[in-house]
Amino acid sequence: MKVFKFGGASVKSAKAVRNVGDIISDYNGQKMVVVVSAMGKTTNALEKILKADSKDFDILITAVENFHNSIINKLFLDLESKIYNRVGTVYKQMRLFVNSNNLDTNKAYAEFVGFGEVLSTIIINQFLLKLGIASIWQDAGELIITEDKYIDARVLWDESSKKISSKINPLFDNNDIVILQGFIAKTVSGECSTLGREGSDYSAAIFANALDAQYLTIWKDVPGLLNADPKYFDNTYKLDFISYRETIELAYYGASIIHPKTIQPLKKKSIPLYIKSFLEPNEKGTTVQKDAFADSMVPSYIIKKNQVIVSLSARDFSFITEDSLSIIFRELNNNNLRVNLMQNSAISFSLCLDNKVQVKDFINDIQQLFKVRYNDDMELITIQNYNQELIDELVGSREVFLEQKSRTTVQLLVR
Ligand code: ASP
Ligand code: MG
Repeated sequence: MKVFKFGGASVKSAKAVRNVGDIISDYNGQKMVVVVSAMGKTTNALEKILKADSKDFDILITAVENFHNSIINKLFLDLESKIYNRVGTVYKQMRLFVNSNNLDTNKAYAEFVGFGEVLSTIIINQFLLKLGIASIWQDAGELIITEDKYIDARVLWDESSKKISSKINPLFDNNDIVILQGFIAKTVSGECSTLGREGSDYSAAIFANALDAQYLTIWKDVPGLLNADPKYFDNTYKLDFISYRETIELAYYGASIIHPKTIQPLKKKSIPLYIKSFLEPNEKGTTVQKDAFADSMVPSYIIKKNQVIVSLSARDFSFITEDSLSIIFRELNNNNLRVNLMQNSAISFSLCLDNKVQVKDFINDIQQLFKVRYNDDMELITIQNYNQELIDELVGSREVFLEQKSRTTVQLLVR
């Protein structure tokens, strides 16, 4: 069997949903899990509702309803169709939810944002059935089990794998396609959790791993993985083949094309990942796999903006020792901060971080123990398969604050 993943952009309109139907029809009769995100910008709209004034709930939920209904109206002509009852029930649940819960908690967040994926998968499933495809809707919350944390929760592999294979495999006896929501999960205690924004790619990789899929295809609005972000660079080109390792690094250091956690479950079982364009489904796209020699000498680079460098030194000029490092890392973890690059010397320790509000909290926490210097508005450049010419070109006349080189990758923090 195979796993397909369709993101928000690929299901943002009736035309887009028809296109998804066409792509799936091309694989007629083959067994597939299809993971779908919320339609268009629905997750953002739901996040806004959680922060809104209660007097605006009605207008904002009506907007989400109208958006989905306008897609449904174009896809289903039959007004008696079951689809209206199904989505109608979800709209009711959403209204009830916002009016009877404290929305300012992570628990409420996880319960509410998942409605986007529920709506999109109900619609896609019903549309595939209408095309005559043997498809069935399944709740991903029953399958992916996480630790007891609501947002960006860590997946519990053993529990999840068992549930996934025992629930999904029997569904293939009578169906070709199993439709699942990306992004959502349940905690071990049975409460809603999420895998983090853009987490549907990761969901798809989890299903692929647990079901020993032949491959995972992520359908995007770009032709594949490019060697640089076309928003910032001209003359970018598509990589035909790339290794798991290179892809993890690119995703981790800011390439927004796939969620950074996606690769690890695939790599574990050597499941190839195809990144393909839903606009040109017959083009080859990019293949991510174990050893990808073909492109492995091609330089790829990404720029992560809005970085800060925080330099810590002991107040009394003493050395930065293992126990001071462990305090620093504990505080980073407590503030949910991820280190993009670090460097230490005898008396100082420098960290490059995404400039989030928590950086201020981290500095406040750590200031009692260390002297802190801080610089913001930096860019982190990561180049794979680098050469000096490319480094010079990307750095330009800017100052380099930190630099780290391995055999294949160089990282430079510049301003
Ligand atoms: N719908 C969720 C989001 O927009 C998950 C995803 O799209 O992958 O973040
Ligand atoms: Mg999305």
